[in-house]
Amino acid sequence: MAKHKNLSIFIPHLGCPNQCSFCDQRNISGAQTAPSAAEVARICDEFLPKENGTDYEIAFFGGSFTAIDRSYMVQLLRTAYSFVGQGRAMGIRISPRPDCIDAEVLDILKQYGVTSIELGAQSMQDDVLRLNMRGHTEKDVEDAAQLIKQYGFSLGLQMMTGLYGQKDYMAYAVDTARKFVALQPDTVRIYPTVTLKNTMLEKVYLSGEYVPPTLEQMVEICAQLMEIFDGAGIKIIKMGLHADTGLEGKIVAGPYHPAFRELCLAKQKLIKIKKQLTNTEPKSITIKVNPKQLSQWKGQKNSNISQLAQMGFDVHIMADSALQADEFTID
Ligand code: SF4
Repeated sequence: MAKHKNLSIFIPHLGCPNQCSFCDQRNISGAQTAPSAAEVARICDEFLPKENGTDYEIAFFGGSFTAIDRSYMVQLLRTAYSFVGQGRAMGIRISPRPDCIDAEVLDILKQYGVTSIELGAQSMQDDVLRLNMRGHTEKDVEDAAQLIKQYGFSLGLQMMTGLYGQKDYMAYAVDTARKFVALQPDTVRIYPTVTLKNTMLEKVYLSGEYVPPTLEQMVEICAQLMEIFDGAGIKIIKMGLHADTGLEGKIVAGPYHPAFRELCLAKQKLIKIKKQLTNTEPKSITIKVNPKQLSQWKGQKNSNISQLAQMGFDVHIMADSALQADEFTID
């Protein structure tokens, strides 16, 4: 199956009346200009394939798409939809806030070829949403998700882990993930919270009120989330923040790593091995895995091998092309 691709077009903070604890969009949006419909047409024409764009979606990210000025939103959609009509993309993807979804707006989105809606849910605990000034509730997420599914859009849900106010980072993350599973999204994105300059989070971090999880804790949490979503057959389309140099310069604190997903995949493999070794006395073992995943099973800098060695196991990990992805044997 061809790999899904997004042609991402950033729409700045326009229309967003909120100031979430972790978001610095309001501070930087003055320096950003919203693309005109003509600019969107230029980007689509330049970057979409000339024909057969069946694996492409035109993705409007940033701010809250359905809260921007209605006639501007329709102009952007109409422009993007003309490229869908030409067969240069299969649809349009947007990422609104949960409280900016209702039947009226979904009718418009349907009319202009929107295929996927990703809700910025972030957390499924009202106390955490309130403390982080999200301006919406858990029920808003549930209502919006149900309506999106009734309309037949592909539903995506985005969550953040390690948010301010989560008294137990693992328990809160698992709770949000389980509530997501109940809403049956097609995809999820998982973003570890990082503290950016000029945000409310920076203030509570500097005051000592917010102690972000360490990278190691966050990897452990997200590896668990992978187990939950994989087990429910829900595709994780993003894990970790996009590694761009602009972001790195703005981070004050938090578990950022440019290869975060790889760390989580390695941790997930370690969890699987440990589970299988429960009740096994320490000894020399050979683990065979799919060749494409060899480095994941070994862990970064052989960290999984070292951790198993600390448990007393002398481990050799070998590639075996007869094994499918995620399959492994232990002898
Ligand atoms: S809703 Fe989105 S754009 Fe608006 S402040 Fe929150 S994170 Fe930033």
